Amino acid sequence: MTGSAVDVDAVIVGAGPNGLAAAVTLARAGLSVRVFERTSNIGGGTATSELTLPGFHHDVCSAVHPLAFESRFFREFELAERVPFVVPEISFAHPLDGGRAGIAYRDLARTREVLGRDGAAYEALIRPLAERASKIADFTGSTLLRIPPDPLTAARFGLATLEQGTPAWNKRFEDEIAPSMLTGVAAHTILPLPSLSSAGAGLALTAYAHAKGWPIPIGGSQAIANAMVADLEAHGGAVVTDAEIQSLDDLPSSRITLLNVTPRAFLRMAGHELPAGYARALGRFTYGSAVAKVDFALSEPVPWANDELRQAGTVHLGGSRAEIAAAENLVARGKRSDSPYVLVSQPTVFDETRAPAGKHTLWTYTHVPAGSREDRAETVIQQIERFAPGFRDTIIATSSRTAVEVEQHNPNYPGGDIAAGVPNLAQLIRRPTFSAEPWRTPLPGVYLCSASTTPGPGVHGLAGWYAALAALRHELGTRTHPNLARRGDLPGNES
Ligand SMILES: Cc1cc2nc3c(=O)[nH]c(=O)nc-3n(C[C@H](O)[C@H](O)[C@H](O)COP(=O)(O)OP(=O)(O)OC[C@H]3O[C@@H](n4cnc5c(N)ncnc54)[C@H](O)[C@@H]3O)c2cc1C
Repeated sequence: MTGSAVDVDAVIVGAGPNGLAAAVTLARAGLSVRVFERTSNIGGGTATSELTLPGFHHDVCSAVHPLAFESRFFREFELAERVPFVVPEISFAHPLDGGRAGIAYRDLARTREVLGRDGAAYEALIRPLAERASKIADFTGSTLLRIPPDPLTAARFGLATLEQGTPAWNKRFEDEIAPSMLTGVAAHTILPLPSLSSAGAGLALTAYAHAKGWPIPIGGSQAIANAMVADLEAHGGAVVTDAEIQSLDDLPSSRITLLNVTPRAFLRMAGHELPAGYARALGRFTYGSAVAKVDFALSEPVPWANDELRQAGTVHLGGSRAEIAAAENLVARGKRSDSPYVLVSQPTVFDETRAPAGKHTLWTYTHVPAGSREDRAETVIQQIERFAPGFRDTIIATSSRTAVEVEQHNPNYPGGDIAAGVPNLAQLIRRPTFSAEPWRTPLPGVYLCSASTTPGPGVHGLAGWYAALAALRHELGTRTHPNLARRGDLPGNES
């Protein structure tokens, strides 16, 4: 690709997982690639940093990676062979008052046993999905505007989603624990509950929990970004940090430009150049409710009332299905809940590299209305204390970020919306526009590749990969997929 009149074959704005996935793909296709990142840290939503005290390494955004083993991009990139992961035997746990808890062991049969009379109902819902977890990842991880590659899997998944995404969601259950577990996972989406989109995402994540599990990278999520940067650099690419791009005119000339930014940011960068209809469509893309993030440095592990929780990778707090739905629906109406849903990850139970000897980190966030300026540390502490009396006494230091500060840290999360756009059904189909190739923009050679594009939020690299493949196809006529395997620099795979 040398000898052209451009400074560099491809430029990428933003070194998040999608920007880096795009960069790796284009570099593997033999292009010269330069990535521009506004911060001094590489990784965007996969950065790890000493947020509280020296020696305590906290995941700034993402912490748990169900898609590390299931995303088709990461499978082709062989991420699992490049980054050491630990996979907790308990993917997630869900405490209720009085020391009761639902425990999602990776082993579904064991989960069924401890769920008592709802065990069989939970297994009947989840086993057919867990057995097809990778197919579900392929279906949900691509544009919904095409015939599903495996219609039977799509139909099963669709029926389960219809059940759990509508007021019929309790019909198969008699007790509180199993439905609370499912709601704890569905609530990751920060959507009203029940809803089809939250149910679909929740069921997919639950299927992964009982298939390959919910892996945690040793050293923190940064290891995922570092693996992609290492591959990029090994193939001649480079990342330029502290380089905020305000306008497309700030970029060197290139044949391909990929933007790991939101539609809102793209409008700021190039709105005057865009056809009016396309600009209006981007302007209609909406952003959703937000998170407030609270990280802790701890003197010891969390003293959960239920001992089993001490071995869980992730813990969902907020109480019963009804309580969590009420809290989430308040947030969706722009209000705050005094007993909110809190998502907790306890990485140092499995990874002692992240804290000084004997000490721990704890990662949490809670949902708040978009643009909230409220510090939620005390509310989060109270919700943890509810299920772990004495937790407060283990805290050495706290780092708290309001929703507004989440956006200040990364403009890809407008108002603190970590999904980079409401992930409801309408906006999963139209992400960010209604097109079978939503990454392609009307500007020649310019593509969007952030989580605001198909297939949406999460650390999977798929939006970057798809955008890069589309750019290779349209700008260079390349119809093969570059081989991304560790030792696969040579011939491409047929697409
Ligand atoms: C608190 C929190 C917790 C999360 N937890 C999880 C989790 O546990 N598991 C999971 O799978 N996902 C999780 N997510 C979501 C996940 O992190 C995102 O969906 C994912 O990182 C999106 O990837 P991306 O590459 O599209 O964007 P990002 O990761 O946001 O990266 C975008 C990058 O572009 C840079 N950038 C933006 N504008 C410019 C500009 N103008 N010029 C130069 N650079 C620019 C940003 O600085 C950033 O580095 C979480 C997110 C947050 C915030």
